Amino acid sequence: MLLTLTTTHQPATDLGYLLFKHPDRVQQFRQSFGTVTVLYPEATEERCTVALLLDVDPVRLARSRARNAPDFSLAQYVNDRSYAASSLLGVAMADVFSTARSGRCDARQDLADSAIPLEITIPVLPCRGGAEIAHRLFEPLGWSVEAEPIPLDEAFADWGDSRYVRLRLTGVVRLADALNQLHVLLPVLDESKHYWQGPDEVDKLMRSGEGWLAAHPDAQLITRRYLGRRGGLTRVALARLAELGDEVEETIEPADDEEALQPAEKRVPLNTQRHEAVHAVLLELGARSVIDLGCGPGQFLDLLVRTPAFTRVAGSDVSTRSLQHAARRLHVDRMSERQAERVQLFQGALTYEDERYAGFDAAVLMEVVEHVDPPRLAALEHVVFGAARPGAVVVTTPNGEYNVLYEGLVGLRHPDHRFEWSREEFVAWCEHVTASYPYAVEVRGIGALDGTLGTPTQMAVFTRKEATDD
Ligand code: SAH
Repeated sequence: MLLTLTTTHQPATDLGYLLFKHPDRVQQFRQSFGTVTVLYPEATEERCTVALLLDVDPVRLARSRARNAPDFSLAQYVNDRSYAASSLLGVAMADVFSTARSGRCDARQDLADSAIPLEITIPVLPCRGGAEIAHRLFEPLGWSVEAEPIPLDEAFADWGDSRYVRLRLTGVVRLADALNQLHVLLPVLDESKHYWQGPDEVDKLMRSGEGWLAAHPDAQLITRRYLGRRGGLTRVALARLAELGDEVEETIEPADDEEALQPAEKRVPLNTQRHEAVHAVLLELGARSVIDLGCGPGQFLDLLVRTPAFTRVAGSDVSTRSLQHAARRLHVDRMSERQAERVQLFQGALTYEDERYAGFDAAVLMEVVEHVDPPRLAALEHVVFGAARPGAVVVTTPNGEYNVLYEGLVGLRHPDHRFEWSREEFVAWCEHVTASYPYAVEVRGIGALDGTLGTPTQMAVFTRKEATDD
C-alpha cells in the first residue's frame, strides 16, 4: 500500500520539518499489522514528496485481531490487504505522522498553520460506492479530486471496473488538516473494518474531525461509515457533532441500516435551533451592534452578517485557526469596503480586558463559558460584565442533566468542556453575576423540552440596568 504527498511550497524540503521526518533518511516503523516505511523519492527546494509504504503482514494482522474478534475464515489470511490502501493505511499514517496531525511544529509553526499546495496520490484505493463517493467526500473540503476507476483486468475490458480507484487529490490545505482528513476518510471509503475499534474511537473521530467534519455535508455518512455498525457509538458521535456543526441532523438515525432507510422525521439540528433562538433574542432586544465572543469558526457570525438590522458585527476568539475558518466562511477577502467596515474579526482571550470588546449593544457567549476553567470564570465575568459592559449579554451553555438522553454518551459532550452545568448550577451562576454587576437576567431553554430534564441547551439573557454613573 502506497501513499505519496507532495508540496511545491518553497522551500519544499520544509515538509521534513512539518512531518518530523528528515528528507535524507529512510525510516521504518513497526505496526501491529505490518511495517511502515517513510522515504522521500524527491526532495528539492521546488518540490518535495514523501512516500509512505505500508507492508501488511496478514498473519500478524490476523493475530492482532484474534484477541478481540476471533475470525476463523481463510479470508483473513488471503485478501487484498497487502496491496490496497485501506483503513490500515489510515491508521499507519495517523500513527507515523501523529505530531504533524496535531498541527504543532516548533521549527516552522507559521508554515504548520498555513494552507500550502499539496498533492496526494494513492495508486490503489478500495472505494465502496464507486469513484463518485471520493468526489463527494473530498471536494467539500476544498480538494480537486481525480478518482480513476481501475479495470478488473486490463486485458479484459468488458469485465468492467474493479472496486478500486486511483486517487489524486490536489489543493491548498493546511498539512495537519490534510492528514486528519485522510485518517478519517480512508477507512470511510474502504468501509470494511480491519482493526479492532476501541471505546475511544469516538474521541479519535472528534479529534481528527476537528474544524471540518461538523460542517461537512456528508458528516452523517462519514460518521456512520467510520464507526461501522456500532450504532451506539454512531449516536454518541452524531450528538457531539450536532453540538458543533450546523449541518448535522440531530435526528440520530437508527443503528440498523434497514431502519435507516425509512424516512426519518426531519428535525432541526440543535445548533441551528440555538442560532435561531439567540438571533431572535437579539432582534427582540433591538440590538444594532453585536459582538460574538468566542465565535469559533463563525457559523453564527455568518447569520449576524446576513441580517441587515445589525449595523455592526464583530467576532472574536482565542483560536487563530477558528478565526481563519470564520474569515473564509464570511469571505472577508471579498468584502466590499462598506461591508468590511461593518464586520470585524479579531483575536482575543476573554479572560483579559480588551477595549475592542466595548461599545456594543449586545454580546453573545454561545457555548463558550463551559470551555473556561472554573477558576478563570471570574476573570471572564469581569471582562464581559464589568469592563466591556454591553447593553445585553446572551449566554448559552449545555444543560448537563439532559445528557442521560444521549444514548451511550459517557462524560461530557465535548472533550474540551470543563463542566456542563445542571439547571440549578446555571441559575446559581446567573445570580452570582447579577449580584456582582448591574444586570438583570432571564433564563430560558433551547431545544426539545423533556418534562423532567429540561432542554438540551440553556440560555440566559442579561440586560444592563440603567447605569447611574455613566
Ligand atoms: N460560539 C461558537 C463556538 C463555541 S466553541 C458556537 O456556538 O458555535 C467555544 C469557543 O470558545 C472556541 O472557539 C474557543 O476557541 C473559544 N474560547 C474558549 N476559551 C476562550 C477564551 N478564554 N477566550 C476566547 N475564546 C475562547
